[in-house]
Amino acid sequence: MTDQRRHDVAIIGGGAAGLSAAVALARSLRSVVVVDAGEPRNAPAAGAHNVLGQDGIAPLELLAAGAREAESYGAEIRRGYAIAARRDADGFELDLADGTTIGARRLLLASGLVDELPEVPGVRELWGKSVVHCPYCHGWEVRGQRIGVIGTSPMSVHQALLFRQLSDDVTLFAHTMPPIDDETAERLAARDIRLVVGNVDRLRADGDHLNAVVVDGRDFPVDAAAVAPRFIARSDLYEQLGGTVTEHPMGVFIETEPMGRTPIAGVWAAGNASDLSAMVAASNGAGLGAAAAINADLVDEDAELAVRERAAIGA
Ligand SMILES: Cc1cc2nc3c(=O)[nH]c(=O)nc-3n(C[C@H](O)[C@H](O)[C@H](O)COP(=O)(O)OP(=O)(O)OC[C@H]3O[C@@H](n4cnc5c(N)ncnc54)[C@H](O)[C@@H]3O)c2cc1C
Repeated sequence: MTDQRRHDVAIIGGGAAGLSAAVALARSLRSVVVVDAGEPRNAPAAGAHNVLGQDGIAPLELLAAGAREAESYGAEIRRGYAIAARRDADGFELDLADGTTIGARRLLLASGLVDELPEVPGVRELWGKSVVHCPYCHGWEVRGQRIGVIGTSPMSVHQALLFRQLSDDVTLFAHTMPPIDDETAERLAARDIRLVVGNVDRLRADGDHLNAVVVDGRDFPVDAAAVAPRFIARSDLYEQLGGTVTEHPMGVFIETEPMGRTPIAGVWAAGNASDLSAMVAASNGAGLGAAAAINADLVDEDAELAVRERAAIGA
């Protein structure tokens, strides 16, 4: 079934980036449809922090409020997956998993990223609870606790130093990271960060509470663990339209100009899809910036179309 209306903008993703863009575009009297599968990255966390004025709000509650605000200005929110995208004469067509097709003049990809977690039993189950990654998102919540950093890359040393700011009981478990040189070992020792070299077998937990990191069969008691996922931008639709993703030491992302324009004409990206380290507030800002750039682009196109129409009728 095809939705006959041609929207000005279709936004893939109703997270912090997509909904901010939807509000700004709808307030500019643009017809906007947001397609959202409802699985924001921070859903496993109890609260979203560093969100000014609403610190600690439940992630889904924050987005529900954002969706209501977008709808109050006339944006349409469609729940479900967009599974295919293609260009047509007037912009883009999107196929949704429910069998419907929608059309739009411009496309904003605000589909976030997938956190590729280390394959250690227990990590996935405790993710966003007592297994964390970001000191700004969860650092306060684990302050003063026994923190184990599961080292999977050279960046894990930096992560251990960051968490050391929050607790004086930090252990770096050198799991699959390259050997640690003497200078790094000295930096860790000088900050009283213990180093345990060996394969992490699994995490031992009691419900959501982590008890220990198990290394080569031996328990090391901890209350929280930090991991460094690989951040993989959701880019299927972008690639269907001919886009290619860019490699980054932390994962892959959709490269854009500062206001979110991608190299694919008519396609913008914002939030974690194009900025792997963007937190909620930065994703809001990126969505808003992209919305302004898209509206400006449509304003230019509308003016050009109007000039052509006047010329056609000989006005
Ligand atoms: C465990 C955890 C805790 C975090 N805590 C914090 C915190 O406390 N404070 C903070 O500032 N940041 C936090 N973050 C980071 C925060 O989650 C991101 O900054 C934010 O979610 C990025 O917003 P986004 O809109 O780019 O993507 P998302 O919020 O991930 O939203 C993307 C949306 O797009 C949808 N989607 C994807 N593909 C499709 C498709 N094809 N069709 C339809 N819908 C689609 C998804 O289902 C999702 O709803 C945390 C992250 C994690 C992993």
